[in-house]
Amino acid sequence: MKFLISITILIFLQACTQKHQPIKITSMENKEAKNNPYYSRTDTTKLNISNNEWKKVLIPDLYAVARESATERAFTGKYNEFDEVGDYYCAVCGNHLFRSTSKFASSCGWPSFFEADKNGVYYKRDQSYGMDRVEVLCKRCDSHLGHVFDDGPKPTGLRYCMNSISLEFVAVSQK
Ligand SMILES: [Zn+2]
Repeated sequence: MKFLISITILIFLQACTQKHQPIKITSMENKEAKNNPYYSRTDTTKLNISNNEWKKVLIPDLYAVARESATERAFTGKYNEFDEVGDYYCAVCGNHLFRSTSKFASSCGWPSFFEADKNGVYYKRDQSYGMDRVEVLCKRCDSHLGHVFDDGPKPTGLRYCMNSISLEFVAVSQK
């Protein structure tokens, strides 16, 4: 009898511990966004924040891409092969950048779009590394997002080649 009771207690204890598992692990970017006082998906006020300040609130990988124009390695980004329905926001400041309806399967190794939100991005000529490219930046926080090329599909013929880490995807159902 005693044995049976301890077994019951054991099962009960196990059920209890399982109730609290698994812990939902949120992505680094989301976690950081919460500690980032400048991040907002509704506030469109232009930001003028120094890199010293950004360095304190962004994870190092995002800082390197967004503020120092680094490029993430091809085929490694989380949105490269990703086709959920929703919107893409700037991972640094929350500004709206792309809709999933303009994303297309490109073989270049980075998430690609044929159209950007006109109010979300601006362009700069980039002649670094011996190439002549057009850089795409966030209109709200001036962060580097990627480059745009003219070998994209219809209707625009453009290919916005973006770094996954610079983007924050929000599914339609989460809005
Ligand atoms: Zn931004």
